Amino acid sequence: MEGTLAIGKAWILLRGNGAWEQSGRTLEEAFVHEAGRLKAYIKDSPAPEVFSAHLEILEDPLLLDTIKKNVEEGMAPSEAIKAAADEISGMFSDTDDEYFKARIDDLKDICRGLVEYLEGISDNPFENLPEGTVVVAPKLFPSDMAKMDLGKVKALVTSKGSSTSHVGIIARSKGIPFVTGIDISGIQTGDLLLVDSNISEIVVNPTDSQTEEFKDRLAAGNKIPEKMKQTILRNGVKIFGNASSVKDIEEAIRSGAEGIGLFRTEFLFLGNNRLPSEEEQYLIYRDAVEACQGYPLTIRTMDIGGDKPAPCLDLPKEDNPFLGMRGIRLSLSKPDIFKDQIRAILRASAHGKVRMMIPMVTRLEELKQTKALVEECEASLRASGICFDNELEIGVMIETPAASLISDLLASEACFFSIGTNDLVQYVMAADRGNSSVSYLCVPLDEAVVRAVRMVVESAKKAGIPVGVCGEAGSDPEVAKVLCELGVDCLSLGSPALIKELRPL
Ligand code: PEP
Ligand code: MG
Repeated sequence: MEGTLAIGKAWILLRGNGAWEQSGRTLEEAFVHEAGRLKAYIKDSPAPEVFSAHLEILEDPLLLDTIKKNVEEGMAPSEAIKAAADEISGMFSDTDDEYFKARIDDLKDICRGLVEYLEGISDNPFENLPEGTVVVAPKLFPSDMAKMDLGKVKALVTSKGSSTSHVGIIARSKGIPFVTGIDISGIQTGDLLLVDSNISEIVVNPTDSQTEEFKDRLAAGNKIPEKMKQTILRNGVKIFGNASSVKDIEEAIRSGAEGIGLFRTEFLFLGNNRLPSEEEQYLIYRDAVEACQGYPLTIRTMDIGGDKPAPCLDLPKEDNPFLGMRGIRLSLSKPDIFKDQIRAILRASAHGKVRMMIPMVTRLEELKQTKALVEECEASLRASGICFDNELEIGVMIETPAASLISDLLASEACFFSIGTNDLVQYVMAADRGNSSVSYLCVPLDEAVVRAVRMVVESAKKAGIPVGVCGEAGSDPEVAKVLCELGVDCLSLGSPALIKELRPL
């Protein structure tokens, strides 16, 4: 798979030793500096929502108030920041709320930035990163990713972290292998490393034969897109891109995507204490459709719940969130919030080709109810003289066994299907997609999954509607080959580098 193997020289990250020096800078200046830095990251990052969440913590008076209280108690400013980080982390970890627990690293990242500024430590330890580097660190933070010149980074290796962390998300979107859980104590800067993120392993200072064998695997890996390309060409399959921000859309289109098959809208809701208004959503969707330059934009309605909790919705804790109020179930249970999103999508459809896609469908009724809400929103927009596409296409994500079993019924009401293999595989195989002990079951080419996909493709063909795949499985050349042969019309891929290889301009 693209972006899973790398060979390069280790570069050990050394952070400041935290010695308090009188830099003459004030606490207030540190806050202003950190806010400016985060705003710049929000503008430039492939995952802006990560830094929006940081900014929110920085701007919450709780942080500054706790630091000031510590200063009043006699602590030096940098000491007061570290103590505040510990205090607030303790409060976060004492809650039952997974969202706050997940914010502990963000809080520490911000406090580290404040202390470094106060202590006059260089803002960017990655300033002189050599080309072809494997960055090795006990732990990496999202702000580290924003500071690195990722063009020079071959891979990331850490002792702590997870591939689903914010660092993992950014690394994946850039096609950089990321391996965590490694004992890095014996690694020195300059050591040669072979990194395989498929199996989460590295080899330090390999033998010549290990290096040769690894290079062969790398070369073979690089040839795979050529085979994939032939299958795609032979079957006339379109290549779309997946995106979680307007920036991602620009990159996918620049790389040759013929449209966006999945625009995830969760970033507007996650890491946000308040709901985005219809107007805010409209402006983003409008920018998104304009970034598509005439190609279609498929906006997925909010897929909140499961592994994506949203503090702005104040949802009750569930014992089994992946089988709970997720995706369309949640949207239909909050029609006013859902209608804001639908109206914003409809308004954006006046600016280019927009399709609306519904996640986590299990019953035909959910599609019918959504269509009724869309009609209601259309009527209200019409009454206010607001333009929209009268023929907005509404499609369904097929990511549950129920949806594939009733795909013939869904096909009679849907304008298109998009198979979300990430969830379809976990639900068909009853194996949590984030649990490494059952990852051997999360196999897109397992016969049960292939049968589910075949059923969906047949239903789509019979009804004459297009069917695509927007899950990660479409990026795996072996799986993509099977999907193309089964008859899917489009692969929507998350990696701009892979899009570029498959659709050279
Ligand atoms: C999927 O389930 O395949 C999918 C694309 O949706 P997500 O990964 O956002 O759940
Ligand atoms: Mg999904």
